[in-house]
Amino acid sequence: MERKLVSIQEVTSVAPIVGADHIAAARVMGWTVVIKKGELSPGDRCVFFEIDSVLPEGPAWAEFLRPRGFRVRTIKLRGVLSQGLALPVSILGDVGDAERAELPVGTDVRERLGVTKFEPVLPDSREQAGAFPSQVPKTDEIRLQSALGVLGELAGRDFFVTTKLDGSSATYFRGGDGLVACSRNWALRRGPNAVWRAAERYRLEERLPEGFAVQGELCGPGLQKNRLGLPALDLFVFSVYDARRGVFLGHADFVAFCAEHELRSVPIERVVSGEEARGFSHTLERWLEAARGDYPGTANRKEGIVVRPLEESVSQVLGGRLSFKVINNDFLLKDED
Ligand code: ATP
Ligand code: MN
Repeated sequence: MERKLVSIQEVTSVAPIVGADHIAAARVMGWTVVIKKGELSPGDRCVFFEIDSVLPEGPAWAEFLRPRGFRVRTIKLRGVLSQGLALPVSILGDVGDAERAELPVGTDVRERLGVTKFEPVLPDSREQAGAFPSQVPKTDEIRLQSALGVLGELAGRDFFVTTKLDGSSATYFRGGDGLVACSRNWALRRGPNAVWRAAERYRLEERLPEGFAVQGELCGPGLQKNRLGLPALDLFVFSVYDARRGVFLGHADFVAFCAEHELRSVPIERVVSGEEARGFSHTLERWLEAARGDYPGTANRKEGIVVRPLEESVSQVLGGRLSFKVINNDFLLKDED
């Protein structure tokens, strides 16, 4: 699900911050966000900007972020982790009171406010060969704090946790006309780019069965910060999609598919099933803790984890595949570009 970068949300609580007279800590969905004291109260609706929102240049309410390039990012204020930005709905300005009162929670207001999303890497248009294949879902993961309802959906189910790798997304699809190799959003021209080099290394043109797509993270020298410290490019598969049936393979079939086709998967940190899964208490705090740590064999903090049920399930909350990411807050504070 494409996340709603800027939406109307409810402030669920506001807590004082020790030693701070002018700011307070508000709770919005699963996020803790520092606000101006007195500006919002519990039960109020607010305009909530998720991290990586880039505010428009012009409106007075955005000016305070000018020194930071207008980008909303994770910060620590008086020892409190602040993730996002919550402002009164009055910033919507010209709407009438009646209209404002009717903006329901969840309303996407990104476009009307002119907010854009911070994108770390700009796509190289010279490499595009065409559109991303319509038969295959693009890769994406929702942040847990923006969809806390997924925890209730996961409760009681067997699940597994993989390490979130910080490289570049690749999708390979074998349709009727041969292999299509894609970056996050585009099919790419055959060439010396990382996407096609990995396809050659794993001989995907020969090995990928027709009708299947493999999705993974490309990691290695020159890709992001190569936090795994790899000597050469590699592909770490996180999803296998059967386009004929329109389904992702569940955990067991996914592992078997990777083994059979000699593909490497993302690191599977744990598989929780049976009694342990039944009794597992899925809380935000617990998952945030699980997301911390380093990439094994390195001193580099990991970006986080991705959590999925062993058996593929549809999430009502997400309106799609039940799967979410939990980003390591230490990484967001200290390492993120
Ligand atoms: P946001 O959605 O938070 O705005 P974003 O869309 O840039 O950010 P990412 O933070 O890059 O998303 O997270 C989703 C991406 O994570 C996927 O597209 C995939 O390329 C990558 N990824 C890395 N490791 C994994 C993993 N273990 N499982 C699933 N996806 C993974
Ligand atoms: Mn996304």
